[in-house]
Amino acid sequence: MGIISVTRENFDQLTRGDKPLLLEFQAPWCTYCRRLQGAVEEIAQQYEGQLVVGAMNIDDEEALSDSLGIELVPTLMLFQNGQVLSHVVNPPSKAAIESFLNQELPAPQQEDEHLYDMVVIGGGPAGYTAALYGARAGLDTLVLEKLSAGGQMAQTTQIDNYPGFEEGVDGFTLGMKLQAGAQRFGAQTLIAEVQSVQLDAPVKVLHTSQGVIRSRTVVIATGADHRSLGLEGEEALTGRGVSYCAACDGMFFKGKRVAVVGGGNSAAADALTLTRLAKEVILIHRRDQLRATKVYHDPLQQADNLTFQWNSQVTQLLEQDGRLHGVTLRDVYTGEERTLEVDGLFVSIGRAPATQLFQGQVPMDKGGYLIADETTRTALPGVYAAGDVRTKPLRQIVTAVADGAAAVQAAEEYLMTQS
Ligand SMILES: Cc1cc2nc3c(=O)[nH]c(=O)nc-3n(C[C@H](O)[C@H](O)[C@H](O)COP(=O)(O)OP(=O)(O)OC[C@H]3O[C@@H](n4cnc5c(N)ncnc54)[C@H](O)[C@@H]3O)c2cc1C
Repeated sequence: MGIISVTRENFDQLTRGDKPLLLEFQAPWCTYCRRLQGAVEEIAQQYEGQLVVGAMNIDDEEALSDSLGIELVPTLMLFQNGQVLSHVVNPPSKAAIESFLNQELPAPQQEDEHLYDMVVIGGGPAGYTAALYGARAGLDTLVLEKLSAGGQMAQTTQIDNYPGFEEGVDGFTLGMKLQAGAQRFGAQTLIAEVQSVQLDAPVKVLHTSQGVIRSRTVVIATGADHRSLGLEGEEALTGRGVSYCAACDGMFFKGKRVAVVGGGNSAAADALTLTRLAKEVILIHRRDQLRATKVYHDPLQQADNLTFQWNSQVTQLLEQDGRLHGVTLRDVYTGEERTLEVDGLFVSIGRAPATQLFQGQVPMDKGGYLIADETTRTALPGVYAAGDVRTKPLRQIVTAVADGAAAVQAAEEYLMTQS
C-alpha cells in the first residue's frame, strides 16, 4: 500500500480505521526526515496488512500538528480507534521504529541462511563504496544499514569538497547515488541494525534486528555519531529542547533564545546557522577562544544576535513541564555556577566512533576507533574497518570512499586464501 499522504481531510477517517495508523510528521526542510524515509517505506511493506503508514507535512497542516503537540520532526505517532497509543521522536534507526511498534504489535521476523561473500555494516560513503567494488568484483555482497544510505553526510545539504561536483552536492542525494551505483552491480541492502557480532571464525555471524546474517568477510563501516554531554535528563530532553543538529532542528527555534555548546568547526557552523533563525544565540565554550578554523571567526564576531560564554561548562539541564528551559553553567576557573535560561540547547562537541558493538572482538585505540591501517585490515582475518570508524588522520568523505575500495582489495586477497 505504501505511504499515504495524511491531511486534515482524511485524518479522522484514518485514525479511526480498523487498522492502527503509524503517522510520520515531517517537513520538506527536515534533512533527518529524508534519511528516515527509506526505513518508513520498509516498515510499510513489512507490516502490510497489520498497519497503515501515513505521512503529514507539518508546514501544510500546522494547526493540526500543533494540536497534537508536535514539537520536532520527524515524530512518529501510532493511532488506534482515534486515540494516540504512543509516539517516538527522531528514531535513530529502523530497529528503533520496530521496537516502538512491537510494544503494541507482534513483530514480523526474517531468517537468512545464505552465506554472503561480503557483508558491509553501514551504508555511508565507505560502506557503499565497498559494496560497489565488492559487487563489481563478483562478490555476493549485502549492505546492512540501520537507517538509510548516506551516513553522516546525509545531514548536510551542501558538500563542496567532494570532487566531481562543481556546484557542490546535497549529502542525501550523494548517498542515494552511491547506493544506486552499488546496486547497479548487484549489491543488496537490508535495512537492519546489527546488534551483536561473532567475527573470529571463518563464517562471521551477525545478529540483526531482522534476523541472523552469515558472511565470509565483513567490512565494518559504521562511522561515527554525535557525542552527548552525559548529563542527567539529556536523553529525555532530546527533542524537547536538546538537539544535536542545528541544520535539522534549528527551524523549531525561530525567534527563540538558544545556546550552542562547543568550540570546534561544527559548533561554529551551528551557531552561525542559528543566528539566522533564533532571536538570540549564546555560544558556550570551556576555553577562552574557539578551536574552529579562522574562516568562522569574523562571521561569528559580526553576528549581532550572538554572544559568547567563555570558560564555561554546562553542568545541569533544567527542565520544566518535560521541556528544557535552561542550563546551569560553571566557570572552569572559579567554579562559580549560574543559570542561563534558554529554549534550546544545541550540543556540538564532536563525534564518537560507532564501535561499541565490536568491543572485546576488534582491537581499538583509546578513542574507541578500530585499529587498522590504510589496507583497512583489522587484527581479525576477513574483517576490515573502513571510513570514520578506523584510526586515521582525516575523517572525510574522500577518505571514507578510499577505504571502501581498499577494504575490498584486502577482502578479495583473503577470500583467495580461503577457497
Ligand atoms: C553535518 C555533517 C556535515 C559534513 N560535511 C562534510 C563535508 O562537507 N565534506 C566531507 O568530506 N565530510 C563531511 N562530513 C564528514 C563525513 O560525512 C564523514 O567523514 C563520512 O560520512 C564518513 O563516512 P563513513 O561511511 O565512514 O561513515 P558514516 O557516514 O558515519 O556512515 C555510517 C553508517 O553506518 C550506519 N550504522 C552505524 N551503526 C550501525 C549498525 N549497528 N547497524 C547498521 N548500520 C549501522 C549508520 O546509520 C550510517 O549510515 C560531515 C559530517 C557531518 C555530520
